[in-house]
Amino acid sequence: MKIRLAADLQPDSIVDGEGIRTVIWTQGCPHNCKGCHNPGTHDFNGGFLVDVDEVIEELKKIEGQDGITLSGGDPMCQSEACLKICKAAKELGLNVWCYTGFTYEKILNNPKQKALLQYIDVLVDGKFVLEEKSFDIYFRGSRNQRIIDVKKSLEEEKVVWVSKYMDEKDYSLDYKKPEYMFI
Ligand code: SF4
Repeated sequence: MKIRLAADLQPDSIVDGEGIRTVIWTQGCPHNCKGCHNPGTHDFNGGFLVDVDEVIEELKKIEGQDGITLSGGDPMCQSEACLKICKAAKELGLNVWCYTGFTYEKILNNPKQKALLQYIDVLVDGKFVLEEKSFDIYFRGSRNQRIIDVKKSLEEEKVVWVSKYMDEKDYSLDYKKPEYMFI
C-alpha cells in the first residue's frame, strides 16, 4: 500500500502536539481554507508516493519520540494508509495526534475515516478559519478548531475536549454555527 506525502518524516517536533513528535506530512487536501499556511499540500497529485511499509521502517529507526502526528494536507483523505501507519506506531509505543479539516462529526459518518479514529489519541478537527486565528491557543491555528480526546469521545458518544489545551473563550463559541461545520 502506498501513501502520498508532501515531505519526508519530520522527527523532534514540539509544536505539532504534546511532547516530542515525528510529523507525517500527507499530501492532498480538499478544504481550501482561506489563509492556509501550507497550500503546497493541497494537490492530490503533488508530493511523492512512498510505500507505507517504508514509512513504518523509518519510524522504527527514529529514537526519543513520544508519538507521531498526522498532518498535511488532510490525513483523513488517505485514511487506510494512515491507519496502517498508526497501527504500527501504537505497536512501537507511540501515541497518535491527527490534524484534519473535517469535523469529528463528519468523520463518524465515513466508515473508513471512522476506522482510522480508533487509532488516534488526539484529533485536532475543523478547517482553519482566518477570522478565528489566534496566537493565544495551543496546538491549533484558529479558535474554531477543537482538540479532542478521541477515546473518551467514542466511549461517551459525544465530543470530549482535552480541556488543558482549551480555555474559557472556546466554551463561548457556538460550534453549531454553519461556518464551523463545513464539509
Ligand atoms: S485543512 Fe489544513 S492543509 Fe487543508 S486547506 Fe485547511 S489549513 Fe490548509
